[in-house]
Amino acid sequence: MAKLRQLVAGNWKMNGTAASLAEIDALKAGIAGATADVAICPPATLIAQAAARAAGSALMIGGQDCHPKANGAHTGDIAAEMIADAGGKLVIVGHSERRADHKEPNELVRAKAEAGWRAGLLVVLCIGETEAERKAGETNAVLSKQLAGSVPEGATAANTVIAYEPVWAIGTGLTASNDDIAAAHAHIRARLAERFGDGAKAVRILYGGSVKPSNAGEILKLDDVDGALVGGASLKAADFLAIVAAAK
Ligand code: PEP
Repeated sequence: MAKLRQLVAGNWKMNGTAASLAEIDALKAGIAGATADVAICPPATLIAQAAARAAGSALMIGGQDCHPKANGAHTGDIAAEMIADAGGKLVIVGHSERRADHKEPNELVRAKAEAGWRAGLLVVLCIGETEAERKAGETNAVLSKQLAGSVPEGATAANTVIAYEPVWAIGTGLTASNDDIAAAHAHIRARLAERFGDGAKAVRILYGGSVKPSNAGEILKLDDVDGALVGGASLKAADFLAIVAAAK
């Protein structure tokens, strides 16, 4: 099966200060000639500066979350329009840390995805099962429910990327087995095809969960794995570039 152009996206989470912008400079230089799309989602405080530093290169900068509304009395929140205004090109929604720490339900994730589209951002929408759900044999059911509840009508390859991130593999050093990743991605592809028809074939499905230079090559070559969402290993340009080099 022909591979889609892959996307390797880094999520810095609540890490990084102005000193970390040196990593953006290193990535900008390091991705010249890369055969994959590459993005970094730094904390909101750094989006504008990172975007300015990345200008003139293929490196995309994005946000880690957005509010469904475009503006208003929502202290501490950030609108998708603000991310775009700061030079962001994409936004992560529904990350498991937001779903868990901020009790974000599927309907809210869906509204955030629509907000990202409204602002012209590429939406990276995360889904994934917990360890308990996997042990109970509920992985596919959980993924189906999250897809049905959080992916809005109108999702296309141009506006949406799905990130499959088993919760138990995020930041733990544990990765899902290649067979489990392939099975989950095939399940996601089939559910997307049911809803969106042939267009679903071009929707990129990223794997996330302790991706690092040593395992990126084998993960990125699996069927229906169209890139990676990378947390810890995106903080250092050298590690992240090694993952980008493994992508197609
Ligand atoms: C993530 O936060 O999306 C993630 C996959 O983190 P890590 O790579 O650190 O597991």
